[in-house]
Amino acid sequence: MAKVSIGLRGWRFDEDEVFTDEGEFRPLDEVPDDTRRRLIRLTYLQGKPCDACYLIHGEAEKKRCNPAEFVYGEPMEEVLLCADHEADFLYWYREAGGSDHRGEETFRDEFHEWFAAGERAPEGYGGLDHVDTGTDELPTPPDPAELNRRLNENYEGKRKRIDLRTGEIRYEEWDERRGDDEDDEDAVDDVGDLDLGQDYPTK
Ligand SMILES: [Zn+2]
Repeated sequence: MAKVSIGLRGWRFDEDEVFTDEGEFRPLDEVPDDTRRRLIRLTYLQGKPCDACYLIHGEAEKKRCNPAEFVYGEPMEEVLLCADHEADFLYWYREAGGSDHRGEETFRDEFHEWFAAGERAPEGYGGLDHVDTGTDELPTPPDPAELNRRLNENYEGKRKRIDLRTGEIRYEEWDERRGDDEDDEDAVDDVGDLDLGQDYPTK
């Protein structure tokens, strides 16, 4: 089964799980849970800066950060990296004990601490060979609003909604307040803020 990255390199998806034969994104309720969480999480991560750049420049100088091109780790504890910093992450993961934290809630924090302490990959440390070419060639993640709309195409009394941070699909009772509940805090995608120190809720 062909594997494909979407939006950012690093996470890879089985093409058949994500796309229809026509190359459209599958309706999300047909996609396996883990795949769906990653896919939705990617829509949230698109356009975020590299974690390492952010640690260097900080919020005030956020404009100087490179946009992330790579994502590693598990959704919610993922590390975002630019091409300049991927090798530092890989070195940490392979040679500096990072892989011991694989799957742990502190995965990202551990890398941040290591990097913030001034640790780096040795000069010339190789990254992965990414066989495929430029980032431009990756399919872009689906549009979350469009996905939410498609989820509810076959509306039958309960509305489904995707949590844009966790990728969970929730069912909501349809009620009269429909329209006011669009600001449901879980569903709000506050793309403007990147708070790397934030503790994300665990699932
Ligand atoms: Zn960077």
